[in-house]
Amino acid sequence: MGAALVLATLSPAQAQQAPSASMQGSFVSAAASSHPALWLPGRISAAAVKTVQTTANLNLRAKPATSGKKLAVIPKGTKLTVGSTKPGWSQVRYAGKTGWASSTYLRAVPTKASPAIKRGDLGKSTVALKLRRQANTTSKALATVPKAGIYTVKKVSAGFSQITSRGKTGWVQSKYLKVVAKKPGREIYIDKKYTSNRAGLTDRYWTRVSGSDLYESVKGKIRIGDIPRNSVVYRDKKMEKTAGSVKGWIFVRTQGMSGWMKTIQLARKTTATTNPGKYSAKTVLAQINGKVPERMLVAIGWDKEKTLIAAPAVKDLNRLNAAFKKKFGHNLDIDLAYRTRATQDAYWVELGPYVAARPGTSNHGWGTAIDVPETYNYSFRGKYHKWLKANSKKFNWVHRKILEEGSPYAEAWHFDYVGK
Ligand SMILES: [Zn+2]
Repeated sequence: MGAALVLATLSPAQAQQAPSASMQGSFVSAAASSHPALWLPGRISAAAVKTVQTTANLNLRAKPATSGKKLAVIPKGTKLTVGSTKPGWSQVRYAGKTGWASSTYLRAVPTKASPAIKRGDLGKSTVALKLRRQANTTSKALATVPKAGIYTVKKVSAGFSQITSRGKTGWVQSKYLKVVAKKPGREIYIDKKYTSNRAGLTDRYWTRVSGSDLYESVKGKIRIGDIPRNSVVYRDKKMEKTAGSVKGWIFVRTQGMSGWMKTIQLARKTTATTNPGKYSAKTVLAQINGKVPERMLVAIGWDKEKTLIAAPAVKDLNRLNAAFKKKFGHNLDIDLAYRTRATQDAYWVELGPYVAARPGTSNHGWGTAIDVPETYNYSFRGKYHKWLKANSKKFNWVHRKILEEGSPYAEAWHFDYVGK
């Protein structure tokens, strides 16, 4: 299963966020009406003119009048934040003193407008928000979204963004979502997609306790998931920094979700790339699908951080890779092998029976299946697929008939392990 299918379930709607009347601050209209020449031409929003710069050495006065007591001299070129305005005067704070400066010598410094949020972006809630059934402010509120939660925007529609919070999908006002990460490439990440190092993440931890808690926001302490013991989580330092680092917590991506975890629930591990326990495929297949013990799963030698695979299958996979590399000059790309039960359930809900296997039945749940990418060379007509289809069985990996082109279950990228 691949990312493109996940994306295909999303609406292509890309409405720009409409500017809201409430964004026009009162001090702007006051200034604009009394001293239109003072500010940059055109209608500018409050957010864009809060920051000003002095165009001369300027007196800071106690009152908005030339008769006001002089509190300080503000040097030319100083950047200031305007609190409020009176005709001809702006209230500013300088050197610990709040006073008034002549607006004639203040020039607006346009601040960077925050970019419009788009489908696939990650947004951080700047306030606690109502999650509504529809993209308006009047439909039923499904839940309250905490402040500082981070969400993948699934759709956008005229000033509203569709997100999922604590299992509920609904709409919030886009203006209260700060873009913290732009939509990554399709190989990277989207809600409910298996999370590996596709986001470029390599800082891997393992959960130490059963039911490790994943939180939507640290401060809000909203619990959004319990991650099974010995699950791999990837620390996303960039996101952590953007969201605001908190001691004792890290921001992780795991099992198709992202959120905060307590570091005390995590441990560092290294993963074998061979089969030191000498487990057989039969032993692995006797485990509960999606709940294979950690010791029976290993990393893929040439891409250790990406995905885990059933230990007995790794030797044949290495042989397959060696042959592939000899032919094409580079390693076989593998997007996914082992998938936990929770991830399978999420896929089932999101993608349905033609794309996702019924939870508990996929060979991914035993780590005995691999998915290669969906890029052209790996597609049905591509050279890699053709070669794999013809050669993989020599190494006990097969592309099943039911997945062939033309079948309703067609998947060029999925290969199953049939060895011992
Ligand atoms: Zn697959």
